[in-house]
Amino acid sequence: MGKRRLIDDHRFWLAFVCCVCLLLAGWAQALDCSVCGSQIEGRFLRTEDRVFCSETCYQSILPKCELCGQPLSTAVIIDGRHYCEKHAEGSRCWKSGLPFAVGVELPDGRWFSRESYRQGVFDPAQAQRGYRLAAADLQRVTGLRMTDLPPMSLVGLDEIRRRRDYEPGDTMIERGMYARRQTTTRRVDRRGRVLDQQISNESEILLLYGLDRQEVLVTAVHELTHHLLAEHFPRFAAFAPLWAEEGICQYLAAIVAQRRGYTRLVEQIENSPDPVYGDGYRYFRRLYGRNNWPAIRAWLDDFDHAHGLPGQAP
Ligand SMILES: [Zn+2]
Ligand SMILES: [Zn+2]
Ligand SMILES: [Zn+2]
Repeated sequence: MGKRRLIDDHRFWLAFVCCVCLLLAGWAQALDCSVCGSQIEGRFLRTEDRVFCSETCYQSILPKCELCGQPLSTAVIIDGRHYCEKHAEGSRCWKSGLPFAVGVELPDGRWFSRESYRQGVFDPAQAQRGYRLAAADLQRVTGLRMTDLPPMSLVGLDEIRRRRDYEPGDTMIERGMYARRQTTTRRVDRRGRVLDQQISNESEILLLYGLDRQEVLVTAVHELTHHLLAEHFPRFAAFAPLWAEEGICQYLAAIVAQRRGYTRLVEQIENSPDPVYGDGYRYFRRLYGRNNWPAIRAWLDDFDHAHGLPGQAP
């Protein structure tokens, strides 16, 4: 009888030890703060997978607003960066599209973050240097000369908007403009018969101030391509739908950006959601690949407006 009691006690003891083990394990796991490791007594905070001894330890693991440093239990994520709601709803930098704490207002009403402002080109002489580099790059890639470089001025968005004759789409980024004016001068005799006639062209390029140096160069290549097309492929420049012309300007801008290692701008051109600029560029890339000016040139030489291209990029 005595022997039997001993066995019972033994079983009971084993079971008891197991319960204590489980309790201890649970205790140790649940009540060590996930941040500072100190033992938790009394009230504590927990998330799905962590426990915290205090509000301070809990807040230390939260993402912080990039601008004010406030810990965020609800964060607004823009371009992979975290912001509090107040800053996410506030003004955004024209260039980066990101919220800013202290911005700079440009004369044309655009707001820049200080960082974008520091990178911006506002000095006309610096812009002219970028412009000449762009012209040299474009002539090297195409093997075509431009008889004279159109004068370039660095202007605000207000000036570009005043001068342009189209409504930009939401997905279009306005960074520059090419303007060409044709003047026909006729000499007539008393009966109104034309004795001779002279056609002269005046071209001009506007670049937006505040772009960074890479953007100045790539935008200048784009605008100069309009000029190159007008000079060397006048039939195309006169009759092609807008998407085809803008598509070729973006195509050359992408080649130059690629050669210079401006990957951010290459990606921007390739992924543009714009139906004119983006789809226009992708039409030629589909046909000829990324870097094939000779094929584009042959296509331009063959261009016949009688056959027509669709009004929208196919
Ligand atoms: Zn703690
Ligand atoms: Zn904030
Ligand atoms: Zn253009």
